Amino acid sequence: MNTILSNNIVEVRKLVKEQKKEGHKIALVPTMGALHAGHASLIKKAKEIADFVVVSVFVNPIQFGPNEDFDKYPRNMDKDKKLCEELGVNVIFAPSPKEMYGENSSLNNNELTYVCPPYNVVDCLCGKSRVGHFDGVATVVMKLFNIVQPDFACFGQKDAQQLFIIKKMVKDLNLDIEIVPCPIVREEDGLALSSRNAYLSEQERQQAISISKSLFYIKGLFERGISDVSILFDSAISVLDKNLNLEYLEFRNYSNFEKVNNASEGTLVAIAVKDGNTRLIDNVIL
Ligand code: AMP
Repeated sequence: MNTILSNNIVEVRKLVKEQKKEGHKIALVPTMGALHAGHASLIKKAKEIADFVVVSVFVNPIQFGPNEDFDKYPRNMDKDKKLCEELGVNVIFAPSPKEMYGENSSLNNNELTYVCPPYNVVDCLCGKSRVGHFDGVATVVMKLFNIVQPDFACFGQKDAQQLFIIKKMVKDLNLDIEIVPCPIVREEDGLALSSRNAYLSEQERQQAISISKSLFYIKGLFERGISDVSILFDSAISVLDKNLNLEYLEFRNYSNFEKVNNASEGTLVAIAVKDGNTRLIDNVIL
């Protein structure tokens, strides 16, 4: 499969327009690269539902805080391109920060028009410690949507808050794009795949197993009739490796993002921990 790699907005627009003229449906899979089986599952879904698949690979500077891992975030275009070719991706759009944001592509971009999702969905969970993160995410996704103009866009359930925010943006701003959620892909021992898993030492990798264990433990208890969030919370903490630093473990209504005291079917249970210096997130839907 001949996958076109382009870093140019005008070129990608042209490639997509030609396909649309043929009546072909377009799917976009936005990523930050360092592709793994989680990304591959999104791409496979995109291939299933559309005729022409664009994968964007862009480590977006404006969604990283000043003390976060923008510089050291894993980048491996050769490997990413190989996987995309194997999966039959039509176009990889891998722009530079300058291509996306012009000269002012710094982390604190005061010159840019942002898409700012409402306070109640960005100022909680990951947004609490990552101030401005979801403004950066919504802005870059909006730009990618405007560049590619896809019929479908595939997002992983792994980033549950991101998925919620993107769905809301699409609804609130009347975008004519179908957001396709894709289930979390895990290692055999339960750890959710993430590009950041590459940062983990052997010991940290071992400790990380308890993240998904604690979520599955909650799910098991819920299925046996326990819905009191304080009981579920305490039980999960007892499973979590003591060397992990818990940032949050929260129960939210996944249709309005409000905190719940009593879990019910559909409740989002989301967790973030620091494992050494690496921040890891995971979630389950009850
Ligand atoms: P990222 O490159 O981390 O920004 O992720 C790009 C897309 O892949 C997002 O929609 C993520 O939710 C999704 N993704 C990342 N990890 C996984 C996973 N383990 N399972 C399913 N989707 C994932």
